[in-house]
Amino acid sequence: MTEPTFKPTNFIRQIIEKDLNSKTVETVVTRFPPEPNGYLHIGHAKSMCLNFGLAEDFNGRCQLRLDDTNPSKESDEYAQAIIEDVKWLGFEWHGDVCHASDYYQQLYNWAIELINKGLAYVDSQDSDTMRKNRGNLTSPGIESPFRVRNIAENLDLLERMRRGEFADGEHVLRAKIDMQSPNMNMRDPVIYRIMNVPHERTGDTWHIYPLYDFAHGLSDSIEGVTHSICTLEFEDHRPLYNWFINNVTTTATPHQYEFSRANLDYTMMSKRLLNLLVTDNYVNGWDDPRMPTLAGMRRLGYPPEAIKEFCNRIGVTKQHNQIELSVLEGAVRDTMDSKAVRAFAITEPLKVTITNYDGVEFFQAKRHPKLDMGQREIGFGNTIWIEKSDFAETPQEGFKRLSPGAEVKLRYSYIMRCDEVIKDRDGNIIELKASIDPDRSRKFKGLGIIHWLSAGHAVKATFRLYDRLFKSPTPKADTFAEDLNPLSLVETAGYIEAGTENLLAPDPIQFERMGYFVADSKDHTASQPVFNRTVSLKDNWQKS
Ligand code: ATP
Ligand code: MG
Repeated sequence: MTEPTFKPTNFIRQIIEKDLNSKTVETVVTRFPPEPNGYLHIGHAKSMCLNFGLAEDFNGRCQLRLDDTNPSKESDEYAQAIIEDVKWLGFEWHGDVCHASDYYQQLYNWAIELINKGLAYVDSQDSDTMRKNRGNLTSPGIESPFRVRNIAENLDLLERMRRGEFADGEHVLRAKIDMQSPNMNMRDPVIYRIMNVPHERTGDTWHIYPLYDFAHGLSDSIEGVTHSICTLEFEDHRPLYNWFINNVTTTATPHQYEFSRANLDYTMMSKRLLNLLVTDNYVNGWDDPRMPTLAGMRRLGYPPEAIKEFCNRIGVTKQHNQIELSVLEGAVRDTMDSKAVRAFAITEPLKVTITNYDGVEFFQAKRHPKLDMGQREIGFGNTIWIEKSDFAETPQEGFKRLSPGAEVKLRYSYIMRCDEVIKDRDGNIIELKASIDPDRSRKFKGLGIIHWLSAGHAVKATFRLYDRLFKSPTPKADTFAEDLNPLSLVETAGYIEAGTENLLAPDPIQFERMGYFVADSKDHTASQPVFNRTVSLKDNWQKS
């Protein structure tokens, strides 16, 4: 495993150190609070590394809380997928998996407390009127005529809303704060809405569900969270977060801190948009290896350590955070190098018949150039496969591989010369005739070196060569469908070195010169091998 090269500090880490030193906080408690409305993506990994990482480093604890307050969008499939991904990254949450729905009764009691304090009321305006009356950044809001409802009536209505006596949208419960506030979030925000939808965990007990701002901070206080870390778009919600904590009876006082979201080039990172990619069949499910989901990256072959190393490298700040793909792929290569055995594979085969050889031999090669992973034996015969791209009929200047009359070194084997090019009726090259120099000790300085496989020894395989999903670095929500890269998945039929068909995910392999690969976790079998290209060997992006 690649140990992180350094553990960078960041402003949140410094805040925690200060809180611990001044004894303002005794034990650090953080939480990772995904909504189970989709699979986790690489942006969530950043949040996890931060929340679980801080708890680990400061001997605190981190809760895993499923923020399940919208049953119309959430499902158990998503909840299970989230739990699997957190485990896969190797994070350990404290105690059981928590759910916002575990706290529905307590949250409801607090809503009643707010009503009793004159700090909440049932509003019966329709949603359009309510939106209009909220005002905007330049004009203040207009108070609802229902704002003056008395406590008894509010309590009665809320209870009946809970029981399901009203249709969706007929009433809402709002906090009574300040319709004049320059902060829109403070203009009597909605606390509960009616949703006559059963919930995965609470069935049809509830016909109202709490809104994020209300449920989130108060769930933090129930769990004793000390540092509630979220992304920057919630900065303006912090006064509201504090308002709820300060106006209900609770002893815990969590604080909210914000950092910037991770955005990654050539991908999208919102669960809503990722959901569209899946439901409209632009990709083959949430775990399609082209998806920026953790499930997709796992299937593509990314080791969990690589994702953590990536998060380490991008750091945590409040600055806009648009990250080049090369940063992620660099972390993947650096992590895979020491894990991956080496072997040959031909992804686009071109047949070569060696006319002056008719034996069979086995050549020794190391399984890893630097680490002691043992030896392998590569069979050789008079019919071999080479990569199509390693031959050029009319080579450009500087092309050092095979071309008519030229010599090339077959790695671990002989020097071979191309004597003849054979074409079909349409002019396509279908075979080369070649001869070898039987002197294997001949120096090959200056010659190109290529890989190869013997037709008599190689095993058939399918390769899935993945590339970025979008053509533009920053696909837009409304035009992403036209922006898809038609070559994001190219499937080819070729060959692998005998024995590698037994490799199973997640064990990585480097097919020499071709990249890091992993057997597909769903479709690969030893008799019908399917390998996904995890990442190419060179960084192609820095050049473009
Ligand atoms: P999405 O729009 O992708 O669904 P979200 O913020 O609605 O994102 P949640 O399930 O609510 O998704 O997120 C759980 C946690 O992960 C939150 O604390 C959120 O701030 C954090 N998070 C989500 N996306 C990112 C990101 N791109 N970078 C860093 N943290 C993120
Ligand atoms: Mg969300």
